[in-house]
Amino acid sequence: MDLDSKKLLDELNINHSLSVEEYEYLLKNADGELMELAAEYARAYQKQYYGNKVFTRGLVEFTNFCRNNCYYCGIRRDNNQCERYRLSKSDIMECADTGYKLGYRTVVLQGGEDFAFSDQDVCDIVRSIKKAHPDVAVTLSIGERSRESYQAYFDAGADRYLLRHETANPLLYAKLHPENLSWENRMTCLKTLKEIGYQVGAGFMVESPGQTPYDLAMDLKFVEEFKPDMCGIGPFISHKDTPFSKEKSGTLETTLLCLSLIRIIYPQVLLPATTALGTIHPQGREKGILAGANVVMPNLSPVNVRKKYTLYDNKICTGEEAAECVNCLKNRISSIGYEIVEDVGNRAGF
Ligand code: SF4
Repeated sequence: MDLDSKKLLDELNINHSLSVEEYEYLLKNADGELMELAAEYARAYQKQYYGNKVFTRGLVEFTNFCRNNCYYCGIRRDNNQCERYRLSKSDIMECADTGYKLGYRTVVLQGGEDFAFSDQDVCDIVRSIKKAHPDVAVTLSIGERSRESYQAYFDAGADRYLLRHETANPLLYAKLHPENLSWENRMTCLKTLKEIGYQVGAGFMVESPGQTPYDLAMDLKFVEEFKPDMCGIGPFISHKDTPFSKEKSGTLETTLLCLSLIRIIYPQVLLPATTALGTIHPQGREKGILAGANVVMPNLSPVNVRKKYTLYDNKICTGEEAAECVNCLKNRISSIGYEIVEDVGNRAGF
């Protein structure tokens, strides 16, 4: 093991802070031994704050229409190979009810930026879920909106909001997105969500096209400073009908290292072992938990629409019924000594 890396990792474990250059050094020089040590430190915090509990979030992908054209995304506006759908309110309620029966106490309503669902529609859906299941947390993941809209959803009862920042480097952001999307606005949205009082999820792609270790180091620094309640980290995976179709996917190793480092940087953070991680490796999610993650996000969307919500190629879990998903996940998680719990799953200390 590189001794300087070990020194930096130990320093991070004590102070929960490094400079961007130091994070970059760690990312560039981590070998297997250092990664295992980082995972060990990460698991100690995971145990301290969450024991061996793993929280679930039932994911309802309710629309794959999107007004945007992010270069990496399979449901981008200009992908005319994508078969579009919208779930009705009663479909969404049915998914939430199914999730409740299966023990999920968080529903995540995720979609593209689809303004066919007005603010009133979104508020109505949020209110209805909260009325039917008062002990369920509702998370929204519907992109960039105005402060007024975010406030209206919050007032209707939404508890959490996921908005990945994708990269903390504005220059890289501009290479991954068309001109009408700005890094500054993404950051403003994240700050606004926090000010309103949501539990906020940010997150980034690992090894997206053109990303350097320095860029990733900026993401680690961003998490250190912004302290999102949740941080979704997944490897970049290309989609065949996007401008990035030929780009190389991110690796399991770098993603696992980032998970461990994020847990050490912000020990209480909610950290999902993402479906993308499970897509690049058959035991990706289990490895994610062992690297410090403590959340899984099984799919509750009706099986007939699952394959239509593919942000990247070869996405797993698109064929199973919701009940099969939860049983599969329970077995996977218990096989590594952890337990899926029926819990709303707030960030420790929130
Ligand atoms: S990443 Fe999000 S905003 Fe961008 S095209 Fe895909 S769904 Fe739309």
